[in-house]
Amino acid sequence: MSRIPAPWMPAVPMKRIICHWTAGTNKANDVDKKAYHILIEGDGSLVRGKPTISANSGSLKDGYAAHTLNCNTDSIGVSLCGMAGAIEAPFKPGPYPITKPQWAVFIDVVAELASHYDIPVTPKTILFHAEVEPNLGIKQRNKWDITRLPFDLSLITAAAVGNLMRSSVAAQLKSQVVVLEPIPVGAIAVTTSIVKTRSTKDGPDTGSIPANVNVEVAVVDGMLIRVETPAGYLVWADRTAFKMVDGPQVETNTKADSLRDVVTSLRSLAEQIEAAIA
Ligand SMILES: [Zn+2]
Repeated sequence: MSRIPAPWMPAVPMKRIICHWTAGTNKANDVDKKAYHILIEGDGSLVRGKPTISANSGSLKDGYAAHTLNCNTDSIGVSLCGMAGAIEAPFKPGPYPITKPQWAVFIDVVAELASHYDIPVTPKTILFHAEVEPNLGIKQRNKWDITRLPFDLSLITAAAVGNLMRSSVAAQLKSQVVVLEPIPVGAIAVTTSIVKTRSTKDGPDTGSIPANVNVEVAVVDGMLIRVETPAGYLVWADRTAFKMVDGPQVETNTKADSLRDVVTSLRSLAEQIEAAIA
């Protein structure tokens, strides 16, 4: 299931996802929206932050999301709205606790980003703000998002909450694995998202095709396909980003041919047996 609108996920390289809470209310306000790329409100609604993910890609551009001290380059910032007035120890969640349904949407969002940006689920690449200092060695200012969960008080450290998040994201990614139907050469296929393309099979990305564009399939090679774009260019792309909309006519005599083959080989076997008996 896709929760994140495609335009929120520009085709740029990103290396990690850093997850936060806003320390605000369960609604995203203007200050919250400036700091993160994607926010999840208390009722599970998704809100797009003001910065685009591309502003944090490669080098920081004007208006980038400043969500993690000295670790914003190539980092997507996702935040759960809530926890204003919370106290770490003894733990008090305050009047705006993050909730279990909100957390479930958050897991979906992180899994979708991990899949889209091809980010592995490891403690250094998908982590909470509270894990940045221990896991990446980048000093933060006493950030404890997230070391405690209001709906599961058994978890007490950043690593425990981080590991719960990562195992849930990994499980979600596994359940999302889809069986791809074959796309034959000559088929018309449609892009299901923005697709990065390259001019050679093993080369770097050289362009992209927007979502919902029809292309003609020229070559199928495992998980790669070579397609002709509407502008007439032949490019290589990841097969998973396409769905077949129209295929070439299947040969109608395939079944008859294979039956004929069986009859032929049985006949030759019978002849060999006859020859052996005689
Ligand atoms: Zn944070």
